[in-house]
Amino acid sequence: MSKSLQAIRGMNDILPEQTPLWRYFEGTVARLLDNYGYRQIRMPIVEFTELFKRSIGEVTDIVEKEMYTFDDRNGDSLTLRPEGTAACVRAVLEHGITGGGQVQKLWYIGPMFRHERPQKGRYRQFHQIGLEVFNLDGPDIDAELIVMTWRLWGELGLRDAVKLELNSLGTSESRGRYREALVEFLSAHLDKLDEDSQRRLKTNPLRVLDTKNADTQAVLVDAPKMADYLDDESRAHFEGLKARLDAVGIPYVINPKLVRGLDYYSKTVFEWVTDKLGAQGTVCAGGRYDGLVEQMGGKPTPGVGFAMGIERLVLMLEALDKVPEELARQVDVYLCAFGEAAELAALALSERVRDQLPNLRLQINAGAGSFKSQFKKADKSGALYALILGDDELAQQVVGFKPLRGQGEQQSIAWDALAAHLATCVVQG
Ligand code: ATP
Ligand code: MG
Repeated sequence: MSKSLQAIRGMNDILPEQTPLWRYFEGTVARLLDNYGYRQIRMPIVEFTELFKRSIGEVTDIVEKEMYTFDDRNGDSLTLRPEGTAACVRAVLEHGITGGGQVQKLWYIGPMFRHERPQKGRYRQFHQIGLEVFNLDGPDIDAELIVMTWRLWGELGLRDAVKLELNSLGTSESRGRYREALVEFLSAHLDKLDEDSQRRLKTNPLRVLDTKNADTQAVLVDAPKMADYLDDESRAHFEGLKARLDAVGIPYVINPKLVRGLDYYSKTVFEWVTDKLGAQGTVCAGGRYDGLVEQMGGKPTPGVGFAMGIERLVLMLEALDKVPEELARQVDVYLCAFGEAAELAALALSERVRDQLPNLRLQINAGAGSFKSQFKKADKSGALYALILGDDELAQQVVGFKPLRGQGEQQSIAWDALAAHLATCVVQG
């Protein structure tokens, strides 16, 4: 096939068979966020490249090697967003909606772009639902974020399959002191570090903790621990968060090596991880970034947020057989019309029924095809009932009503009584 007829590697079509599950997932999250008082914000997909360099940090995987960057026709360097936080911060600053300490609880959904090696659960265009809270600095709000996701896992049936990992990176001062200690320690073991870690030691030393290299991991066993460098404020914050998680009964493990890829985190960082997806185990990740807004040119504004990867969660729902059964059925009633006159009557009748039952999922099939072949289609559609309208029914102003699932004889229903009859037998969501 010619290359232009293929999707770009790592960028996927989400086919009609898959969209019901996506919409179920997205709808569940949206309802939950509404209920907790979060409001949706929609940012453009493209921003100035500089925005991401400045907020994410030059020495990160994303900025160093994953961004889709191109020149606009007027020479501006633009980038397809690799994540949502930078654009969200840009938007609240541009519109002044966090000024004067105004609290904002915002969420967004949409595609993100990173030039990574595509594999299961890792794509070049992927989708996130993310959330950012501004101007709340206490551990209560960090806890709320986690409690909300815990509720989400509950609603989706995923609680047993995810684990919460927590860490505190401290304030930037305490992290600075820790970084010095870490650099000193690692420098003394330089020859035992893998190449990547040697490079990171100079550019972004905390990320050495993230290494997958076994030899480097062995060195890290004796490395200084962030927990020993936390100042009182960070320690109290972390304790406050843990107390709230304990109060709700949410299990967690402290992972001192959890540092997150992005530069801007402080105090709380967390990840929800699963062992059901192979290597791509993080389904939701976030933390506090009290210094970011100021770093981007705004007034000091505490912030905390997370992002979850929709593809990975959809994969999990499938892998764990948590796809609700009712998603398999997208049609309630399938109306077959035979003949031109009957077809016109069927259209008018179906519109009358829709007036009365706006949530009814009614599909009309008219035109060519034998009785038998139309019936096959009706059955394949997953509909619960077929309606039949041919010349005989037209003459009597009735429709044939036939249950497609389970038992039940075909009966005749008068047009005027059809909506009321359907209301009794189709449970509407
Ligand atoms: P990873 O360690 O898996 O690369 P990350 O730290 O780069 O993840 P974040 O930037 O924190 O990821 O993004 C939040 C979430 O978005 C991730 O936990 C994951 O669920 C999802 N995600 C990130 N990158 C991808 C990708 N390339 N394809 C699919 N989902 C992704
Ligand atoms: Mg990544």
